[in-house]
Amino acid sequence: MRKSRQLLRGDPQKEYLRIQNELVTGWTYANPLPELVERMGKIRSQLDPVWLATVRTCTTPPAPIDVGRLLPNIAPLAKTTVRLNPRPGSAANDVSKMGGVFLWPKDETWPHCEDHDSAFVAALQLRKEDFPEVEFRPGTDLMQVLWCPNDHEPGYCPDVRVIWRKRADVVDPVEVHPKPAPHEVDYTE
Ligand SMILES: [Zn+2]
Repeated sequence: MRKSRQLLRGDPQKEYLRIQNELVTGWTYANPLPELVERMGKIRSQLDPVWLATVRTCTTPPAPIDVGRLLPNIAPLAKTTVRLNPRPGSAANDVSKMGGVFLWPKDETWPHCEDHDSAFVAALQLRKEDFPEVEFRPGTDLMQVLWCPNDHEPGYCPDVRVIWRKRADVVDPVEVHPKPAPHEVDYTE
């Protein structure tokens, strides 16, 4: 025991990896492990940035191969993507999240699919400040993605609506969304 504690104290890299692993497996909205997050931040500031860049974090690592160099024709089509890492839990209606209740004004009709006689479902909501990689429409700070949770021709995928809004404009928000009709569970679970 004494030996292992000494090892951890003398090996911040190992301690950093251990905390990363604990966060990945244990973090939830209900219990966001603030002491661990703080400890990770302190250790991080002492570590070599080159080493940090090579280890597993909650961020997607760089691609193992340079696709643009192998296939130069597609290099100009490169775009930045953001990998989401959602966890189960409840969250306020105006934050970045997948599913749950979105910030939606009571006087605005919730989308409905005529093909399936079904309400759309709340799929993804992003705050502008959380996603600097995403180019928001001018004057907006919230992007909402809703879809009909059924296959639609010709692509056999959900019918999607994207809504851009300004959070401050929603003064009287809904507390629940209409329930969808029976549907493909893959699109809501
Ligand atoms: Zn539909």
